[in-house]
Parts: sequence; C-alpha cells; structure tokens
Amino acid sequence: METFADHYESMRKQILLHCPQVDMALVDRAVAYAENKHRDQKRKDGSPYIIHPLAVAEIVAETGLDTDSILGAILHDCLEDTDSTYDEIARQFGSTVAELVEGVTKLTRVQYSTQEQQQMENLRKMFLAMSKDIRVVLIKICDRLHNTRTMEYQTREKQISKSRETMDIYAPLAHRLGMQKIKWELEDISLKYLDPDGYEQLMAFLDAHKEEADRFMHSIQSTIMTRLSAVGIHGSIYGRIKHVYSIYRKMQQQKKTIDELYDLYAFRIIVDTIPDCYNVLGHIHDLFNLVPGRFKDYISTPKPNYYQSLHTTVIGKDGIPFEVQIRTWEMHETAEYGIAAHWKYKEGIEGGNEKDFEWVRRLLESQQEENDAEDYIHSLKVDMFDDEVFVFTPKGKVMSLPAGSTPIDFAYAIHSGVGNAMVGAKINNRIASFDQPLANGDIVEILTSKTAKGPSRDWLKICNSNQARTKIKQWFKHEKREENVAHGKSSFEGELRRAGISPSVLQDQELLPTLLKKLAFESLDDMYAAIGYGGLTAVKAFGRVREELTKANRKKDTPKTPTQTAAKPSSHKDSGVVVEDIESVMIKFSRCCTPVPGDEIIGFITKGYGVSVHRRDCRNVNLNDPKMAGRWVRVSWSAEEDKPFSTTFEIDSIDRDGIWIDIATVLNSSKVRVSEISARELSANHGRAIVTFEVKNVQELETIRNKMRQIDGVLDVRRGQN
Ligand code: MN
Repeated sequence: METFADHYESMRKQILLHCPQVDMALVDRAVAYAENKHRDQKRKDGSPYIIHPLAVAEIVAETGLDTDSILGAILHDCLEDTDSTYDEIARQFGSTVAELVEGVTKLTRVQYSTQEQQQMENLRKMFLAMSKDIRVVLIKICDRLHNTRTMEYQTREKQISKSRETMDIYAPLAHRLGMQKIKWELEDISLKYLDPDGYEQLMAFLDAHKEEADRFMHSIQSTIMTRLSAVGIHGSIYGRIKHVYSIYRKMQQQKKTIDELYDLYAFRIIVDTIPDCYNVLGHIHDLFNLVPGRFKDYISTPKPNYYQSLHTTVIGKDGIPFEVQIRTWEMHETAEYGIAAHWKYKEGIEGGNEKDFEWVRRLLESQQEENDAEDYIHSLKVDMFDDEVFVFTPKGKVMSLPAGSTPIDFAYAIHSGVGNAMVGAKINNRIASFDQPLANGDIVEILTSKTAKGPSRDWLKICNSNQARTKIKQWFKHEKREENVAHGKSSFEGELRRAGISPSVLQDQELLPTLLKKLAFESLDDMYAAIGYGGLTAVKAFGRVREELTKANRKKDTPKTPTQTAAKPSSHKDSGVVVEDIESVMIKFSRCCTPVPGDEIIGFITKGYGVSVHRRDCRNVNLNDPKMAGRWVRVSWSAEEDKPFSTTFEIDSIDRDGIWIDIATVLNSSKVRVSEISARELSANHGRAIVTFEVKNVQELETIRNKMRQIDGVLDVRRGQN
C-alpha cells in the first residue's frame, strides 16, 4: 500500500526539481496541518487520505506553479472534508492560499448533472468564471488527474460518470490552458473506462507493433540527428506514438481501422533558438518528402493557448508518414504545462499577478479547438467572463446570462411565458427580490401563477439582458395598446412642452402627412404606442420632427403657455370625464376617493387600465414624485353628462339606538341608490358607518352630507378614502 512517507518524499522531490524557489518550511507546515485535519479519513483503497492532497501537490509542482498553488493543493480538501475554516487557513498560510482553497471547494460543489453537449461550453466557462484566480482551475485539474489515476476502487457507475465529466469538462479546460501533458493523460485514462474494449484493442495493436514502431522511430531519429550534427545545430529529438485517445478519435472520425490510419508517429525536435527552428525545418524537408498542406507555423502565429511550434508532416523512404514538431525549450515548457509554465518565470519577479490573469482570461476565450491559428486572432475578446454570469435551473441546466442579470432576465431566458407569468423567484432556495443580481453557480427558480398580471414597466429598468427587455416590450406592445398610446402620447407631448412647443400643433391636418412621413409611422397613435411600449424614445421621435414642429409653433399668432393650449378635448363616450389631449382612452374612477362631477380631479395613466381619475385632494395624488410626474394628466368633467357616480361617505357617530335608521332615511328621501352600507364599533359607544351610493354631482352630495350632519348623534361625515 502507498504510504504517507513515499508520497511526501516524491512531492518534495518534484518541488525541488521544478520549483526551487518554494519555501519548503512552509510546505512542511501545510502538510502537517492537512495531515492532522485528515487524520481519521481514509481513501477508497484504505490508504490514509493525506496521500491524495500530497499527490495533487506533486502534480501541481510538476507543472511549475508557485508556492501559493502548492500550499493550496496540499490544503485543497480541508474546507470540504474537515473542520478547517477559511479564517484558520488565512491566519496560518495567508489569504491568497485560503482563497485558492475556497475556490477549489466551490468548484467541487458544482453539480455536473447534464450531458447535453451544448451545456459543456457553459459549464467550462462557469468553472473559469467562478475561479476568480486561474490557479484555482489549475489545482482543480491536478486534483482531477490524481482522482482519475486512482479510479480503480470506484464503482463502475462512478468510473463512467466521472470519466464523462473529465472528457467534457476537465480535458478541454486543460487543453485550453495549454496543459497538453495532463490533457492527454486525462483523456487516455477516461477512454479506458468509457470504452474498455476499444481501448484494449488499440493498446493490443500498439503493443504488437511496438518493436516495429521503435525500430522505425529509431531510424528516423538517427537520420535527423546525423544531419543536425553535420550542420552544427544543437538539438534534442524525441519520437513517440501519438497518445491513445487522439488515435482513437481519428479512427472514429475517419471511420478507419488503426491499420488504415494515416499518421501515428510524432517527432519533436527541441533547439535553442528560433532561427534554429527554421533551419531544422529546412533540413527536414530536405531529408524527407513533404506532405503538402500540412505545414503550420505556430511560432509566428501562436495558438490561442500560446502554444508555439513549427509543424510539418513528411514521408520517409519506407512510405510511413509522420509529424515533426520543432520548437525551442521555452516553447516546449509552455507546450507541456501551458499557463502553469508561465508562473515559473513570473514568480518572485514582480508582485501582483493581475496582468497575468488578464492574459489568461484573454487566451481562454477562444472556443477553437485544434483550428488554424489565423482564425482565433479575430475572435479574441477582452474580459469575456466579466460580461457573463452562469447559473443553474433547478434541474441542473446551466444558463449563461449577461453579468448583472436578475431573476427577471433568467425567467425570460427560459421562456417568455415564464417571464410573463412570473410572480416571484427563489435563489438557492430562498425567496429573492426581482432585482437581486445573480451570481455564478446560483440555482434559480421562478415562481409563476396563472393569474399573474404580466410584467410591469419597472421590469424594463430591472432586467439586464436584451432578450428580457425585448420580450417585455413585446408583451406591452401586444397586450396594452391603449395604455401604450396614452403613455406614449404623454411622454411625447412632454418633450414638446419642454421645447416650448404647444401639443396643439399636432392637430394641424395639413402638417400631419409630413410629420407621419418623417416619423415613419402610419398614424400618431401608432407612434405613441411605440413610445409607450418602449420601442422608441420620445426624445428620438421628437428629434425627427423637431424642425417642422418648431416652425409650425412659431406660425401661431399668439404664443400660449402650454397649460392654455389644450387642444379641443374629446372624452371617452360614457365616462363623463375628458382627458386633456388624449382621445378614446379607457377611464376608471379611483376607488380610493370616488370622485363625482364638480370635484376637482386629476388623471393618472395606470399600468393596464387607461386613465384613473382621482380627486385633487386624494391622499394618493402626489405630484411631487418625479418618477410619476410624466403620468399625471389633466382631466375635467364633461358638461353634457348627467349620469350617477358611485361615491362613499364615512360617518362617525355615537352609538345610539335607531341612528342607522335615521341615516338610511336621509339616503332614501334623497332618492339615491345605495349599493352598500356597513358599520362597525370604534370604541365602547362610538361607531363608524361606510355608505356607498350614487349621486349626479358634488352639489347633490353636499346636500346629503348636510342632512346627515343634522342627525342627532352624528359627529362627522367625510368623503371616503379607502
Ligand atoms: Mn481532492
């Protein structure tokens, strides 16, 4: 069985070899700390748990990462599996190490519950976005490599699901971070579990042809070596069979058996300088026959993950094609360990790796796999992950949304039907407000109701995605034309007034066709509707016709102030109320103050019900609120109407026998229709009655009020305020 001592030793060896700058005393202290914490835990094979973090730290060291990363690797399972706390780790090993450990822990908790291909890119990006520090991902990949290497004690089921996850998430991440060596190992081992037969066949073939292959590689190597010595170029040559999974994948893609497969061999020539690279290339093309179309210069145009090399494919005299990669030692280091190698050169040189992260982020963004270098250069975007947030549905589907998105954006991203029926949201199982910004890894659930009223206009300000905004606007466009027209008209005329132009110029029938043409709408109502649902701003619309309207306004003989210039009003047929400048709008009388003709009134453009009419002295009328300012409109009673209006009295009285009969008698003798009477006790001998009845106007109402005040025991009669 593997022992703690073995692993400790081999980890230290790798650290000394690859990271000589590391503070070994600190490493020892971290090992002691982790060992103590994991003391009672065992791995599946029965060995002490501490072996795992040590092995991970060893892989991290091999890649040449820095001290913090090595400490992070040693401690990486402490938060998840022991009683360690962030503060304790921060106190003992610094906050950077604590953050790395916490970052790895967060990634560990991400559930991989889907296997849809399109989801994988999002999951990978979420990983990167969640780890503010790229070293978190590097440690996590090393963690996965060790777990992959030691999977034989897991159940078959777990082996398969973990291997899928490795193929879908970790190997592509390793690739993107340029860690070829780790990527190959992850893929080869995973293949072994995912397709044991295919893997065995391939291995059997390679084994059977091993001698032949060795002989071939040897002869090529010595041919090249001889030439390089002859021309005085110092270099090393390695021959290898391409890694198992890459052969396997080619067989699948090209539907070929391994015997038919084109090139299995790859040679690598590592030299000291870039000019040497090109010199060697010349000699290779001189020694062997070039396969056309396979030459790639990744030195002048590096791959997205900063991989640099010259690639060419040639055919030897026995007719076997092989690939040759030519690069310098520094390029080689980057090719093997990618970003990690980058740290090796950076540590201790300057403080703050911020720039490095930016560098990293930029290179991660390319979604290209093995494609030509030229393509990715055009696809580079800066800070892509700062612009996105990745969250889960309750079923584990990953959604990518613009950063700053809220539950509303999420709801509309699922479906406009969900957004329109939304009545609430839960984030990580807790009720959340509509405007709570979503964070990476949140699980978001939308609560819907069949009786939901639909989006409110405020949602347009809360949401952050174009998708949600467009869908909300669409809803308003279709569902609320009448309101949109009223709303849009009010904003548009507001613009006019601000510019000192009377809205009445819009009544000019001769000017109208010109205006509509400039505005690009069939009718003014259409334009108002567009402004109302947010498809066009009033400012923009006004801008299109500013000149015409200014001119038309000047022509008017007596310039009037806006308040006097109300156009000939028209009223909604049966409402008895005229809304200034707005035609055919739905009117309703507010229930809070039940205005009747003769009362001073004002209108409010509501969400969904046209204009609601309030008494000027209603406590709900607040003209000072700037947010609402655009929605108050001038209204007046239309003269010709003579129909009853429902209104309410609140009557306070002493609780005397027969007082209700007296009140009812007054109402009865006034010949008004009473729709509701209710009464309740205020205190031991005081009561209050609420009476709802219909009157034609305020005069009639005052007459009734006076009669009531004369009833013995009545203390006060007020207009109702609900
Ligand atoms: Mn682990």
